[in-house]
This record gives sequence, C-alpha cells and structure tokens, in this order.
Amino acid sequence: MTNIIGITGGIASGKSTVTAFLREQGYPVIDADAVVHELQAKGGKLYQILVAEFGEGILLKDGTLDRAKLGQAVFADSDLRARLSSLQDQIIREELLARRDVLKQAEEVVFMDIPLLYEADYSGEVDQVWLVYVDKAQQLDRLMKRNGLSSQDAENRLAAQLSLEEKRGLADVVIDNSGAVEATLAQVERLLREMKDGRRQ
Ligand code: ADP
Repeated sequence: MTNIIGITGGIASGKSTVTAFLREQGYPVIDADAVVHELQAKGGKLYQILVAEFGEGILLKDGTLDRAKLGQAVFADSDLRARLSSLQDQIIREELLARRDVLKQAEEVVFMDIPLLYEADYSGEVDQVWLVYVDKAQQLDRLMKRNGLSSQDAENRLAAQLSLEEKRGLADVVIDNSGAVEATLAQVERLLREMKDGRRQ
C-alpha cells in the first residue's frame, strides 16, 4: 500500500529545501502552493470564481490574478480571509486529493507538501506527517532575508499561522532545520533509508 507522507512546517522553515531534495531522490511530491497557483491561473478552476466575487480590481493589466494585492487584502481583513477560504478550500482539497489518488496507483511513496496541513485539517488525508522545524529566531531571520521583510512584517506573517512549537507536538516526525542544510538533508536521508528498510511504515 502506498505510503502518503505530508510535509509541513511554517513559513520559511525549510519545506522547499527538503522537498527539492526528495524530488532529486526521485520521489513524487505534490506541492500544494503550486497547485493553488495553477487553479488560480487564467482558465483554472478558481480564476472565474475569484473574479466573480472580487471584481476585475484583483487582476493585473494582463488579466492574471494580482496575487500580491489579494494576499495583502486578506492579510489585513479576517472577514475577507474567511470568504476567500469558503470559496477556495473545497476546490483546492478536491484537486490535491485527486492528484494524490492518481499517484497512489503507481507509486509506493507519495509526499504532499502542504504548508497549512494542520490549519486546513489535512492530517487525516496522509499516513504520517513530517514537520520541517526551526526555532523561532531562525525562522524570523530566514523569512526576513528571503522575502526582504522588516522584523515587524515577519512577525505578523508568523502570527497568522500555528506556531512550529504547536505543530511539533502534533507531527509524527520532526526534521530539525536549525543547523546547516547538509545536516537537515542527512536527517531526511536517514528517514528515507528507514522507510525503505521497513523500519518506518
Ligand atoms: P519554506 O519552503 O518552508 O518556506 P525554504 O526552504 O524556502 O522554506 O527556506 C527558507 C529560506 O531559508 C530560504 O531562503 C532557504 O534558502 C533558507 N534556508 C533553508 N534551510 C536553511 C538552512 N538549514 N540554513 C540556512 N538557510 C536555510
């Protein structure tokens, strides 16, 4: 039976660093953010729904979704966030699960990179969860550097998610990404080896 492994973490905790390595090793990874982008692209299942709800003001000149504008608007307004969520969540869920089920036909292991796995309640859809963890100071530092944010903006982004400390208490496996990337990937290699040897189901 296929082993479905959810990869999660927090913003800038190192999920992409881990999933890039998993892909290099030949494992299939469903990237929830990329799937959402596809659905929101012109012609995607969410595009028309969003334009109908929010009007053409959320589009760029070329007709594509102004994701930065929408992101800022929902970040500042919790009612809008709830409305967006009620419009999108079910469609996103169906798409992610359909892709999982297709891959299940052919693969022994399928990874699903879902940043908001706990917040959006996907833990029942995977067999186990691997959390990419860093301490909060590192997370803020990497987020500020990667996204060019002030420390206040970085704090605000973190405040919109469950903390990594809370997620740590829920995950089956914790991958500590507080050190060098090589040390993180060594942990992932060990987990993959254990899985192959049948020591990790
Ligand atoms: P996520 O996908 O969880 O948002 P990323 O994998 O993009 O996180 O990592 C966030 C940032 O931190 C990136 O700029 C990445 O290059 C950097 N980074 C990730 N892991 C480490 C590490 N162990 N040491 C130093 N920088 C790291």
